[in-house]
Amino acid sequence: MYIPKSIKKKHKSIYFQSEQGFSVNSKEKEEKALKDKCKVIAVANQKGGVGKTTTAVNLGVALGLAGKKVLLVDADPQGSLSQGCNIGNPDALETTLSELMSYEMTGEDKDYLLINNAIKQFETVDLIPSNISLSGTETALFNCMSRESVLKRTLEPLKDKYDVILIDCMPSLGMMTINALVAADSVIIPCDPSYLSVKGLDLLLHSIAKVKRQINPDLKIDGVLLTMVDFRTVNARDITGALRDAMGNNINVFNIEIPRSVRATECPNAGESIFVHDPKGKVADAYAILAKEVIGLERKAQVRSRSDSVR
Ligand code: ADP
Ligand code: MG
Repeated sequence: MYIPKSIKKKHKSIYFQSEQGFSVNSKEKEEKALKDKCKVIAVANQKGGVGKTTTAVNLGVALGLAGKKVLLVDADPQGSLSQGCNIGNPDALETTLSELMSYEMTGEDKDYLLINNAIKQFETVDLIPSNISLSGTETALFNCMSRESVLKRTLEPLKDKYDVILIDCMPSLGMMTINALVAADSVIIPCDPSYLSVKGLDLLLHSIAKVKRQINPDLKIDGVLLTMVDFRTVNARDITGALRDAMGNNINVFNIEIPRSVRATECPNAGESIFVHDPKGKVADAYAILAKEVIGLERKAQVRSRSDSVR
């Protein structure tokens, strides 16, 4: 994986400090700082077919190309993200997100071998795949203690290894999606420019507000992302315009809109991201710009929290 010089430089200072020896305290501080640095983003919308999985794969790979260490988490029992990341038959996998979450539910200490077995590599990212067994795990969540935070606890030991963890949610507002919203620092909401899709946003925003109020007060909405936009149709232009007006200043709508393209539909079958399948195309360009917008939001948040701590 290509790692830019600036990133290597940053890590060099950490290695150097380690050679000098750490007291337990400063090592703990370092681990905490690394965990805080990791941003967990849920890609969510209860409507299917709006581009959640496509966004998780391609935003992930774009962030990887920009030098970020990225983990994709497939939180949909259909395993579309896993298939999109070139895992031909996710059902044949022995260790998936389901096993990690089931292990977490038993309340035993972390099994790092199990976690390592689950993680697969794809282009510039790592991936925790899923298959149909995740639907059984979702049912089991109902009888478990602190059932809303099982995914959060499952991902906790991985946070010091990654800059960004992207969770691809399933198309429902069930317990697995609630777990993703509890684990997340922020949400990206893909939405295709159709009347039904925009109408369904209310329900999702309501669920996000509820999770924020009751369990995860720091949860933020990074933005609504318009996907599969056909710039030639008047209908798409009307709906995107109306959505931007409706969200106003309350909720960010990403400046970049992902164009509709046949090349994007070919990616899952090819087991490739758009950056390999059609690197010079307009969809690859759009996801690269989205990655910049996401990194920009993160920088703004850091500046804000630094100036808050000065006050
Ligand atoms: P979700 O995860 O929300 O169900 P997907 O990412 O699986 O949605 O996308 C639904 C379908 O739309 C898939 O067949 C996918 O290939 C296709 N698709 C996604 N993005 C685009 C795009 N920009 N242009 C054309 N088709 C797309
Ligand atoms: Mg999907």
